[in-house]
Amino acid sequence: MSVPSTIQKQATDLRQQLDKHSYNYYVLDAPTIPDSEYDRLMRELEGLETQYPELITPDSPTQRVGGQALSEFAEFIHRQPMLSLNNAFSEEELNDFDRRIREKLNLNEIEYTAEPKIDGLAISLHYEKGSLVAAATRGDGTQGEDVTHNIRTIKIIPLRLQGNDYPDYLEVRGEVYMPLAQFHAYNQQQQQKGERVFANPRNAAAGSLRQLDPRITASRPLSMTCYGTGIVEGGELPDNYSDIVDCLKRWGLPTSAYFQVVQTAKGCWNYYENLHKQRAKMPFDIDGVVYKVNSTKLREIMGFVSRAPRWALAHKMPAQEVMTEVLAIDVQV
Ligand code: NAD
Repeated sequence: MSVPSTIQKQATDLRQQLDKHSYNYYVLDAPTIPDSEYDRLMRELEGLETQYPELITPDSPTQRVGGQALSEFAEFIHRQPMLSLNNAFSEEELNDFDRRIREKLNLNEIEYTAEPKIDGLAISLHYEKGSLVAAATRGDGTQGEDVTHNIRTIKIIPLRLQGNDYPDYLEVRGEVYMPLAQFHAYNQQQQQKGERVFANPRNAAAGSLRQLDPRITASRPLSMTCYGTGIVEGGELPDNYSDIVDCLKRWGLPTSAYFQVVQTAKGCWNYYENLHKQRAKMPFDIDGVVYKVNSTKLREIMGFVSRAPRWALAHKMPAQEVMTEVLAIDVQV
């Protein structure tokens, strides 16, 4: 089926818009539209590409991990790509995700893990013989920024792992964020001084971490929650992700207090509803829940699509942000 020229033009327009907003969001840490609007544009493009697969190109925003490294930082090549996550916006889409996994694995029931999707930025930590030797941002998934000096200033991140049963080389991944109380206090202080404030906690975390002077990062109240591993050499991790999280905790790494093992799509949905009720009282900003197949062996069978694993899903919650307010203030980049 040939693609009508009006559709081709629509897809080109959407790509240009998405690329521009990605640049503002990932590179400048200064979004100009709400995330929900970005998600809507992305879905529109995905819809066109599903209807006309000929439209799909490797550089389409639907195929790529958003983000780009700032040239001011030394580049860091991820030996194991840091991917994004597929999204769901309803219980029906969660059920579709579960059905695809059950069909592919030929299993009746799947054990998942569920945890909050913290709105910060993805960071990879590298430990060699238990010492933190490098840390990097996700960037475009393959090439990130070397932010080792800045990461070393975040007190919750251990410079040395505890115990002695960790692998010789261990890459740990997680989200760096600014807790809400600290975010509001920081912005209030800035306002009192007549200085620029951050648009939202994500922007605050990314802007604080991507500083050339680590003393500035050190003065910002950043935290981290670990949610996975990358390269593992000279040692083995348990098969289940929930057991890996226990190891990370034992080695002194910060993990989520909200982390849970759940059974089937129903268990995922119950977790989502429960967390949604708690959202307003949580100490950090979340934009959803992440479900992951617990068994890493099953994950390997599921594999990846171009920009995201097939064994994980980000179930988004409705947006809480009010962009008009954000745009009305002088935002810090
Ligand atoms: P994503 O944020 O939807 O999901 C992937 C990221 O989730 C990971 O990289 C990781 O950083 C994070 N994450 C948080 N908790 C996690 C956990 N427990 N386990 C695993 N990962 C976890 O994907 P993305 O590609 O980084 O960003 C896309 C989103 O960014 C869009 O959905 C949109 O909302 C927003 N965005 C907004 C604009 C804008 O202009 N407003 C522009 C670009 C992107």
